[in-house]
Amino acid sequence: MSISLSAKPMQALATGTLTEQTGTVRQVVSARMPTKWGTFRLLGFERDVSSGSHRVDSALAIVLGDLSHGAPLLRIHSQCLIGEAFGSLRCDCNEQLEIAMRAIATERRGIIIYDHQECRSVGLMAELQTCALQDAGLDVVDAYQALGFMAECRDFGFPAAILHKLGISHVRLLSNNPDKARALVEAGVEVLAQVPCEAVPNTHSIAYLRAKKEKLGHTLSVVGIGQSLQSICAMMRSIDTEISNGQDREQFEFSSVAAATDLDDTLTESASRRTIAS
Ligand SMILES: [Zn+2]
Repeated sequence: MSISLSAKPMQALATGTLTEQTGTVRQVVSARMPTKWGTFRLLGFERDVSSGSHRVDSALAIVLGDLSHGAPLLRIHSQCLIGEAFGSLRCDCNEQLEIAMRAIATERRGIIIYDHQECRSVGLMAELQTCALQDAGLDVVDAYQALGFMAECRDFGFPAAILHKLGISHVRLLSNNPDKARALVEAGVEVLAQVPCEAVPNTHSIAYLRAKKEKLGHTLSVVGIGQSLQSICAMMRSIDTEISNGQDREQFEFSSVAAATDLDDTLTESASRRTIAS
């Protein structure tokens, strides 16, 4: 359930006590990674960070093909344990990662920079607390803010430094987040295109996606409840027409079941939102 929100408590930011000094990025390991989409190369990077105390940040670059020319596809992806390991449907993280890997495999070149330090950034327990708050009716942005996290863009300095280290100055960014593109440009990486990376909404994720779209400005085409009902009604009218034109009954029943299922999901989600709103 990663989202473009700062992991830094508001009080600490306000007093300026979290000023960080970052060291040079270094590659520490490289290994093959066979996947169902092809064999990628997995690169491990580290950098030293001091902000009163010392720590080492690490990130992975998942690379396919020769990136030394042109503008390869790039996905900057933050770890989501519940989505990627457990298959949670309440966010789009896992599907976005798969979309990115599939797109890169299709082009036979590209890179994913994977920030796996969920626990350092927001923290797994805080992440679960945001889920609990969403269960209680808050949207994801309000849930994060209720826990004391600011709704601001993440620090993309580390991913940008990895790109510089790899000699990549131009990219096509697989993302729906305009702030991510702006942050990369500010860090000296030219974004020639922002390529949509949009998961298909489901009844569990649609509120999350709507919050991303409406509150964080993500370029998502989340279909609203009204639009869903309109499209279902249009589909039912189309089926009626087909039936009256002699379409066979088996096809009608299949279409009707599909439409009814969609309608049921939509109404369930709608009812859930009304309950939350009340
Ligand atoms: Zn997620």
